[in-house]
Amino acid sequence: MNSFEDKVCLIADELLSVLKELHQEHKIQINSKLIAEKMFSKESIKKVLDDHKPEGINIDNEVDPPKKIVDKVLNRLSELVPSHIIDDLSGLKDHHLSKTIPEGSTDWLDSAVKIVKKYVNSISCRVNELEDILQKTTNYLTETEKYVASELSSAQEKFQEDRSFEKSISSNMNEMKQSFIGSGDINNIKKAVFSKIENINKNIERKRQQDILKLQETEITLEKMSMQMSDIKNEAEAMRERSQKAEFESLCDNLTGLYNRKAYNEKVEETLANLNRYDVSSSLLVCDIDYFKKINDNFGHHIGDLTLKKVAELFQERLRKNDFIARYGGDEFVCILPYTSLEEARKVGENIRSIIDRSVFSFKGKEVPVTTSMGVSTFKKGDDATTVFERADAALYLAKHSGRNMVK
Ligand code: GH3
Ligand code: MG
Repeated sequence: MNSFEDKVCLIADELLSVLKELHQEHKIQINSKLIAEKMFSKESIKKVLDDHKPEGINIDNEVDPPKKIVDKVLNRLSELVPSHIIDDLSGLKDHHLSKTIPEGSTDWLDSAVKIVKKYVNSISCRVNELEDILQKTTNYLTETEKYVASELSSAQEKFQEDRSFEKSISSNMNEMKQSFIGSGDINNIKKAVFSKIENINKNIERKRQQDILKLQETEITLEKMSMQMSDIKNEAEAMRERSQKAEFESLCDNLTGLYNRKAYNEKVEETLANLNRYDVSSSLLVCDIDYFKKINDNFGHHIGDLTLKKVAELFQERLRKNDFIARYGGDEFVCILPYTSLEEARKVGENIRSIIDRSVFSFKGKEVPVTTSMGVSTFKKGDDATTVFERADAALYLAKHSGRNMVK
């Protein structure tokens, strides 16, 4: 049964035959309940309704509305909060993975609030660290200012001291000169010269001691300042490393080690900018594991997690260095392939799909059947992050509906 019209015609035919049957059974009051009962008993109607139910929703085992809300909250949080913070608080993830959530349960909300609190704390910690370093730098600068001012005044003092030292030397010399002129007695001259030379020597020695003292003081101050400076430098360096690590973690998916959705969002913007500025044509590949829920159900979440890791490894092995790969969320992966046309991207996707299809996923002796479906689109001028993703997602949807384990 292909077209929508075919289905409507079949329902109309069945409705006519039901009305005839009811008429033949001489039912006096033919109401909608009677018609519905008869209609639902027909196999052809059941099949039409079954064909028509939206993909991914199992009517027999319908997903609880609370779980949908939890999924939505987790998706929104994973766009905002680094994945290591979400993973640390496994509460919400357990809710996310568990099949149902008890009616009226608000435990998952507590977990969500905990995640936001932890994120806010981690940010305020970094702000405190930054404030600390700023405070230390300010103190250091104030001390440097004081030191420069005191050096300036001691330079003035030194200038005065040097002047008075020069003066005392020249007055001693003058006095010596006078003693040559004033007295013809050689002994008196000798005496006067010796006493003046002694005076000059004493003055030189005192000056030398003063200079040494001054030099030592300057050395101590400089040493102290250089230690303070290297402390600040080390702290700033450690903080730069911590913030680089935090930046990396905020873009990294903890389970697979790939980039996460936040990193993907940034990369898409960069790719669009490159297209508009330099005409670099890139393609987008969206991949989703087929029947992943069954893997979780049949083999357990741990094996589900290992499967995600192995798929991530296969992507990394096959893709080129310039290609970008991220875990978009759940069992969905996204790749941005620069300098790659739609047809080339389809070939890349086809190659990875067949590698995954042929790979044996065997964990602790259990063989897990893993296939993937993929959708490809190319970045076009005028696109935004949503339009290019929607095209690839629509192609993925088509791949799922055309039988899975294929690239569209
Ligand atoms: P389809 O072929 O249509 O894609 O079917 P599917 O069963 O794979 O459906 P879907 O892609 O919607 O299922 C994704 C499942 O992945 C739902 C969720 O329970 C599970 N999942 C999400 N994140 C994780 C995770 O980190 N670990 C594990 N083990 N399972 C996860
Ligand atoms: Mg899937």
